Amino acid sequence: MEATMKDVMQANPYEAALKNFDMASDQLELDYDIRMMIRNPERALTVNIPVRMSNGRIESFVGHRVQYNTARGPAKGGIRFHPNVTLDEVKALACWMTWKCAIVNIPFGGAKGGVACDPKKMSTQELEHLTRRFTSGILPLIGPAMDIPAPDVYTNPQTMAWIMDTYSMMKGYSVTGVVTGKPVSLGGSLGRNEATGRGVFYTIQSAADVLNIPMKGAKVVVQGFGNAGSVAAHLLDSAKNYVIAVSDSTGCIYNKNGLDIPKLIMHKSRTGTVVGFPNAEQITPEELIATRCDIFVPAALENSITPENAQKVDAKIIAEAANGPITPEADAILFEKGVFIIPDILCNAGGVTVSYFEWAQDESHVFWDENEVYSRLEKIMKTSFADVMKIQRDRKVNMRLAANMLGISRVAEATRLRGLYP
Ligand code: NAD
Repeated sequence: MEATMKDVMQANPYEAALKNFDMASDQLELDYDIRMMIRNPERALTVNIPVRMSNGRIESFVGHRVQYNTARGPAKGGIRFHPNVTLDEVKALACWMTWKCAIVNIPFGGAKGGVACDPKKMSTQELEHLTRRFTSGILPLIGPAMDIPAPDVYTNPQTMAWIMDTYSMMKGYSVTGVVTGKPVSLGGSLGRNEATGRGVFYTIQSAADVLNIPMKGAKVVVQGFGNAGSVAAHLLDSAKNYVIAVSDSTGCIYNKNGLDIPKLIMHKSRTGTVVGFPNAEQITPEELIATRCDIFVPAALENSITPENAQKVDAKIIAEAANGPITPEADAILFEKGVFIIPDILCNAGGVTVSYFEWAQDESHVFWDENEVYSRLEKIMKTSFADVMKIQRDRKVNMRLAANMLGISRVAEATRLRGLYP
């Protein structure tokens, strides 16, 4: 039976995160005491967020902030506004952030936040009130030395500006380093907006190199045409590859000769959807996943590739721009099929890497130009890819396990050195 979207959304990403942790810890032969110290989140805060809506009534929303691990430095992770946000989803995302920061070797732990709401049905003013009240709810946890939020699904630089302002008002002075992904005029970093998609692009280049796939003329499919997906698509298109299919939450489009990506970006920003783009035929989400291509980039939400559709995937490389797009069961099927997966915690780490650059610039009050940001990003992404690849080859494990092993071993090492308090 085909899985419905509801079944798919009900798959628990936290269980998947723990399963991956256990598998990697077994491979690393991590001792029991260290596992007990790092397997579970350090802290989770759930807050009620009452907001006066435009119709004059007060609605109440639920938000979470989870700090998974801070052994290597302040907690770091985005904030998501989405109707399906749950505490378990936020825990899973915070867990992945922890290993991700360690893989790219930046001095941060992992965190994540989320508010269960439907931002598409809310006015700008309602979103501002929601953001400010959520910020005041999680105020005891956040700060440049403690926990630094960033944008995630359906949050953006404006959301970060509201968080920064709310926090600064509470402190009585401006604190730019409390969030990353801010507008550049408020201490944001050049290049942050396209960092995730650019990082995805660099890891695809590395993978294509390993697999001897020419990075010119490759066929690309992108699921999710938001920040991460559209930037990756744009860079792949600029490098003379063919982005033949693209989707967003409203539908999927296809052109066997390649879509005109710069024009599609303009179309999406004008109309809010990829649907209706000229010179493209509309296809179903199932057809998009089954489209034959060299590179498939899932860049929407978790659990989009399940045991029900994994068999149909017809790609050589899957570059996980999204967090957790493949369920563990689907992962096994794709591995059997010989698909090369660039795992999320490596593939999409460009966002948090440039967030680290932003935080470092804010804290030092010295700002870098775009070229410096991109060249440092490329170096970190390609070094991290090579580090994971080395474990994959030396230990004869798949890329996901290798990435988890690298991230977890670095967090375990920091934990071992710090010892147990008290
Ligand atoms: P975004 O809100 O900018 O874009 C999300 C896109 O996914 C939108 O185009 C939306 O229409 C589309 N989408 C939603 N449901 C869909 C569905 N069922 N089918 C197809 N498309 C669908 O968000 P983003 O920041 O690009 O994040 C996308 C993914 O990348 C998330 O998993 C996020 O956690 C991950 N990520 C983002 C960043 C970042 O810096 N933005 C960093 C690391 C990871």
